[in-house]
Amino acid sequence: MKKFPLHLQIFVALIFAIIYGIIFPTNYSLTEKSYKQLVRTGLAQVYIENLRNLKGHKFSSQNEFLGAIRTILPEETTIKYQSQIIKAAYHNKPVKSVSWMGDIFLRALRMIIIPLIFSSLISGVTGIGTGSNLGRLGLKTISYYLLTSTMAIITGLFLVNVLQPGIGADLNLSQQVEGLVEKQRSLGETLIHIVPDNIFIAFQENDMLSVIFFAILFGFFITRVKEEYRNALNKAFNAIFEVMMKITMFIIIFTPLGIFGIVSKVVADQDDLLNLVSRMGIYMLTVFSALSFHFLIILPIIVRFIGKARPYRHMKNMSPALFTAFSTASSGATLPLTINAVEQNSGVSNKISSFTLPLGATINMDGTALYECVAALFIAQAYGVEMTFIQQMIIVLTALLASIGAAGIPMAGLVMITIVLTAVGLPLEGVGLILAVDRILDMFRTATNVWSDSCGAVVIAKSEGEVLLV
Ligand code: ASP
Repeated sequence: MKKFPLHLQIFVALIFAIIYGIIFPTNYSLTEKSYKQLVRTGLAQVYIENLRNLKGHKFSSQNEFLGAIRTILPEETTIKYQSQIIKAAYHNKPVKSVSWMGDIFLRALRMIIIPLIFSSLISGVTGIGTGSNLGRLGLKTISYYLLTSTMAIITGLFLVNVLQPGIGADLNLSQQVEGLVEKQRSLGETLIHIVPDNIFIAFQENDMLSVIFFAILFGFFITRVKEEYRNALNKAFNAIFEVMMKITMFIIIFTPLGIFGIVSKVVADQDDLLNLVSRMGIYMLTVFSALSFHFLIILPIIVRFIGKARPYRHMKNMSPALFTAFSTASSGATLPLTINAVEQNSGVSNKISSFTLPLGATINMDGTALYECVAALFIAQAYGVEMTFIQQMIIVLTALLASIGAAGIPMAGLVMITIVLTAVGLPLEGVGLILAVDRILDMFRTATNVWSDSCGAVVIAKSEGEVLLV
């Protein structure tokens, strides 16, 4: 019997997950068990007693449930305890019975990221050899990132000006967003933090840029030590990398199950999808069309004409990673699959992929950059603030910076929008307007982010004279 290819398995899992999530939507209701759970969170007893008024009420949307909570508890208490209250009131047995598969899959991916990129980068950098080779590769990689992210932003800018999704948007639909400003790190701080003060803490906190920095430094100086040590270290890191790749391939086998678990929960937890689409339809359409244009036209043109490779064959090769990026909304978690597909299916050497992909997953986010720009202008339109040409240029620049600073985790882009809004004096609460649809749009922008990283690896490999399978 012919084997059912992985990308089709994943696709089928995705479709079933969507259907499953629609059939079993999540409910929110407070039961005796919820009240017991809330006692453990430290919520004051008087508030818990007040919440008893809601006992027996069943809410089909998280928003409605929070609305009801807000009428009972003071504003700050609601904001402070909102996630715990939601957790205590969460009811969805059928989804809980499958979502553990998604949790384990994500944990397994996160488990291998650091050892995988660390060993992969070290063996790659020792292969690159001299400092000037490393510098040339670095320059090409950064140029590719800046070029594609800027093109993505310009596509978004064009479409958001043409479709004007924010005009007439209902400001009353805005939702509260917790701790927006505290999560922001300035560009200067981000740059300083590239140099870790403790590499073990960087490992522990999955601080990718610091780990990348240390691995490049380590790999580079391996080439500078006595032959005897150099050979021993080369051999050791190559061996570790081989083992990590084998573990990666083993985890990848379970992608369809993981994706089923993740996506069914995401779909079930969405508040009334149809209502969202009718309210935010034009906004979603703007983001979606701009991302599709960048994904299906701009990046393939770059692969075809700059990389002299076959973009759509490469796209097919990348499909397990792209589906995973879509489902997990995390380019970081997808990284093991991205490295695997770029090397095994498209034939890029480890030397190039180990250098470009971890860096790409951390700082090259075309989808996020585009999204930052569209979202900021949507908020400006919704609040009726006219943006001058100069202000739009500031948005382009800050959207680029925000995408570089965003981590490869779900909804990181949403937090980074505050940088863009602050730069042009737009109200930060505007983020609340787009919160409800962020997780869905995050899936599309993350797939675009990963696709751009993989195209970058192909273009750079070709420019270095590699013969690829695409
Ligand atoms: N989730 C995105 C990523 O991991 C980042 C974002 O929120 O835009 O690439």
